[in-house]
Amino acid sequence: MAENPTLRVCALYGELMNIYADRGNLLLLERRCRWRGIGFELANATLGDRLDADAHDLYYIGGGQDADQRLCAADLVEHKAPALHAAAARGALVLGVCGGYQLLGHGYQLEDAWLPGAGLVDLETVRVEGPRLIGNVAIEVDLDDGPKRVLAGFENHAGRTRLGADEHPLGRVLRGHGNDGRSAAEGVRRGGVIGTYLHGPLLPKNAWFADWLIAAALDTGVAELGPLDDALEDAAHAAARRAAGIAER
Ligand code: GLN
Repeated sequence: MAENPTLRVCALYGELMNIYADRGNLLLLERRCRWRGIGFELANATLGDRLDADAHDLYYIGGGQDADQRLCAADLVEHKAPALHAAAARGALVLGVCGGYQLLGHGYQLEDAWLPGAGLVDLETVRVEGPRLIGNVAIEVDLDDGPKRVLAGFENHAGRTRLGADEHPLGRVLRGHGNDGRSAAEGVRRGGVIGTYLHGPLLPKNAWFADWLIAAALDTGVAELGPLDDALEDAAHAAARRAAGIAER
């Protein structure tokens, strides 16, 4: 790790793409950095803002209702997508949650409109009539060919996401619906580009994953970050797992 490391995060459309307390993901990243003496910088890029491809280590876009996504989609393509592609190519992380995840792909088909996405990953989302995919969810992930870990959270989406043939899901559904309610695939991961339907918010319920993101964004290992007292975080994770019906092994 660099001598005085600083995690530089850019939140896209923070005031629009932020439901189910998704902003808590940013707060948790900030706290876990500060508790370790790691600097934390948070920038916001909203409608009309240009995005700097070199200025941030992690680009984040939270969940949003269809109406919010309508507002953001064209702006994302016009003002942000090229920088996101360049950032991902140089190894920066991009994390999208639910509505944000859907906009990382080619686009989101609504009944009356096609919302284009950033095209960072080969996936498409279609809003279908019929039940929304709602509930507690747990997925099994294997990030670095290490031991399999569990992410637990909550999902609520009308969109069904289909991954292209060469794309890999973030995890395998243990409980819940995931990308489409059928394939057992949840989310997407291509290198540092990660998307997931898990709200909750995601990171406070899965602090281990926050540390994985921090380490990856700072180009170091999780062990180098050093341990924290995670009694509350472990309890939050255990509660989320219990809610999904996957108790700690
Ligand atoms: N509007 C999207 C859908 O319903 C995403 C919702 C969300 O972010 N929770 O599929």
